[in-house]
Amino acid sequence: MRRISVFGATGSIGKNTLDLLTPGEVEIVALSGGRQVDLLAAEARRFRAQVAVTCYPDCYEALKNALAGTGIEAAAGPEAVVEAADRPADWVMSAIVGAAGLLPGLRALRHGGTLALANKESLVTAGELLMAEARCHGATILPVDSEHSAVFQTLTGEDRSAVERVIITASGGPFRDWPLERLAGATPEQAVAHPNWAMGKRISIDSASMFNKALELIETREFFGFEPGQIEVIVHPQSIIHAMVGFSDGGILAHLGPADMRHAIGYALNWPDRAHVPVERLDLARLANLSFQAPDESRFPALRLARAVMATRGLSGAVFNAAKEVALDHFIARRLGFLEMAAVVEETMARVSGDLRRNDAVLSLNDVLNADQLARQKAEEVARQRLR
Ligand code: NDP
Ligand code: MG
Repeated sequence: MRRISVFGATGSIGKNTLDLLTPGEVEIVALSGGRQVDLLAAEARRFRAQVAVTCYPDCYEALKNALAGTGIEAAAGPEAVVEAADRPADWVMSAIVGAAGLLPGLRALRHGGTLALANKESLVTAGELLMAEARCHGATILPVDSEHSAVFQTLTGEDRSAVERVIITASGGPFRDWPLERLAGATPEQAVAHPNWAMGKRISIDSASMFNKALELIETREFFGFEPGQIEVIVHPQSIIHAMVGFSDGGILAHLGPADMRHAIGYALNWPDRAHVPVERLDLARLANLSFQAPDESRFPALRLARAVMATRGLSGAVFNAAKEVALDHFIARRLGFLEMAAVVEETMARVSGDLRRNDAVLSLNDVLNADQLARQKAEEVARQRLR
């Protein structure tokens, strides 16, 4: 029976993953979550998991009590989450949100199985390291982000050297047509209301600011290894085409699918085969129109900042992501305005760039974690000067 672990099991991606699995047909090794202890315990019971872990030590008692008498182990704390990834599994879903997903993903790769990677922050902060770790242990990383799953599927069986360009689509989010003056006053409630996708709160707000697409540009660069100039973003409000690949003969292959993450998750579960996945089938006649527009970097500067990261690589992705996470926390807490998030990230990148030390030719985990910490401190300083 296939041994499966799901990190971030109580989140949007985690729930969609468990929705595709049937108790008794898979052996669940570890499930991780955070504050949603009841849900975590219920899923651990339903799948008879070996261990359930919450990343919050103060949730331990509640989790232990909820699992009392089941024989399922309870554990808590960030280290316990990483230790759970040490348990051998054949297929691991990495769906923790934020840079916190990096260490469990890296550890899981040591088993040489498959890492289904929804946690784009791992590739943004430490893409080089993650890909090297996978190669070293003969592990396979399969992208779960819809655009990257689409590129992966489109490239299957193709001659990579004939690829001219990769185009990832962006819905444009809830503020696609908002002018700058209106964006300045956008609230977290407005930002979280994504027009096409049901996702976690943080990625939904990142979609509104286009920081999500910025992370995805970097993710495309790190995962597939294309040059920055080959990677494009196009705004496509219907979110039906997830990505396109243009070849040297002028042809473009597109991947279409419903805005339902279970497609990309199901693809990663069944790869290299294809099997039935219970998502809605597209009715193209009813859709009628697919439209496209160029992204506006003056209203969404995150894309410009991502280009700088793609050019520099090294530790700049860790800085970019950490500063973004800090700025996002302040926006959610209403201490920073919507447009100030990008300003905080840009200023943090400028301030930290001189202090970044990369010790070896190959990026080390310590360098990445230090860059992440340094960027968080600087971003807090930068944000504090702007706090309302
Ligand atoms: P959610 O916020 O819905 O879920 C996040 C999960 O991680 C929850 O299980 C949460 O626990 C847990 N968690 C939160 N903070 C920590 C932490 N510090 N350490 C360990 N676990 C933590 O996020 P999503 O499912 O939306 O996104 C997960 C990842 O997938 C992100 O990297 C996102 O960018 C990516 N992704 C998501 C897509 C989507 O459609 N949602 C699409 C493409 C990519 P709890 O809720 O119990 O507190
Ligand atoms: Mg995506």
